[in-house]
Amino acid sequence: MTDFAKTRQMFDIPPGVIYLNGNSLGPMPKAAPNAINSFLMDEWRTELVRGWNTKNWFMQSNTLGDRLGRLIGAPAGSTVVGDTLSIRVFQAVAAALALAPDRRVILSDSGNFPTDLYMVEGLMGLRDVGYELRTPAPEDVLDHITEEVATVMVTEVDYRSGRKHDMQAIIKKAHSVGATVVWDLAHSIGAIPVDMYGTNADFAVGCTYKFLNSGPGGPAFIYVAPRLIDQVAPVLSGWFAHEAPFAFDLNFRPMPGKIDRMRIGTPSIAAFSLLGAALDIWDGVDMLDLRARSIELSEALISGVEAKCPGLTLASPRDPEQRGSHVAFKFEHGYACMQALIAQGVIGDFRAPNIMRFGITPLFTSLEDITQAVDILANILTEKTWQNPEFQSKALVT
Ligand SMILES: *Cc1c(COP(=O)(O)O)cnc(C)c1O
Repeated sequence: MTDFAKTRQMFDIPPGVIYLNGNSLGPMPKAAPNAINSFLMDEWRTELVRGWNTKNWFMQSNTLGDRLGRLIGAPAGSTVVGDTLSIRVFQAVAAALALAPDRRVILSDSGNFPTDLYMVEGLMGLRDVGYELRTPAPEDVLDHITEEVATVMVTEVDYRSGRKHDMQAIIKKAHSVGATVVWDLAHSIGAIPVDMYGTNADFAVGCTYKFLNSGPGGPAFIYVAPRLIDQVAPVLSGWFAHEAPFAFDLNFRPMPGKIDRMRIGTPSIAAFSLLGAALDIWDGVDMLDLRARSIELSEALISGVEAKCPGLTLASPRDPEQRGSHVAFKFEHGYACMQALIAQGVIGDFRAPNIMRFGITPLFTSLEDITQAVDILANILTEKTWQNPEFQSKALVT
């Protein structure tokens, strides 16, 4: 059994804070300051440029990719980290399109995170061959997978509602019509069990600063099925993807047969040091234990809010099997109410137009945190604290 009392001790959460936003930005691991400091003092300062070899900086995209791959059922050698999720979406969709050169339809859904759709729009603009991005309602995706579709690009867990797609069903249907699937696992990795290998997934991308706790701007990742890697065009053909980067050839030759061809350019090694410290915590975590605990905490939040917080209605699927690891409620005064909650130390977030979101993160959240958060929320509603003028004006980031 995973020891969640122990993992909780591995985070440095400010006193008085109940942090229910680890789905947006994970909290700082206690090991993070030492990790970054030792990178600075024992690696950059002392090794200088030698660190690329002596500290293995050059291969950290791969070694960290392998460590993180364990959490999504990805075999060693199929995942690399670096760059941002938006860039990885572009890269994965471009690679998927190149595998189906005669097809023009990219299928996503209207619940997808906007940057994923924006990146595809930008990609379509580069090649004037009549690409079309279709965004049916999430529940209709399966029916829209036809032989016109080159690739399906969906986020497994909806960033607002927490609704979860049926990964196995979508992959099976896509493969049956000769299409591939690009999964965005931003709200899946570290949140729910994922099995890239077992579901025969093609591509996946995601970030590490949410449930994995690597810090703001932590590196993204990309997974490519080993069976596809030799056919996959890197598209963003940077020198870190070259077969022989230090031959400095004038022409690009992608690294044959290896995920290295999805690397791009010099990654942030400082950010890698923080990701390494964050992944240490995951070493003792069993994803099935985490899932069971996440459901227990989510159910406690939902039943508490429904019993004590009139005016809020559940915006997430009621069936826990249909949800990821956050819970959303609709409330007309959701923004002001969330500001009032944050002022009392309960940190969640708000998504337009009226969604209050609460991340459920068993590594550092206890049942007692949930009960306390519900009581504070109930009090804000009874006292109408949210009406206070200071809670009305919207900040740059909600
Ligand atoms: C968080 C999130 C992003 C963010 O992309 P960045 O490039 O890291 O800013 C993209 N897509 C989804 C589905 C997300 O949840």
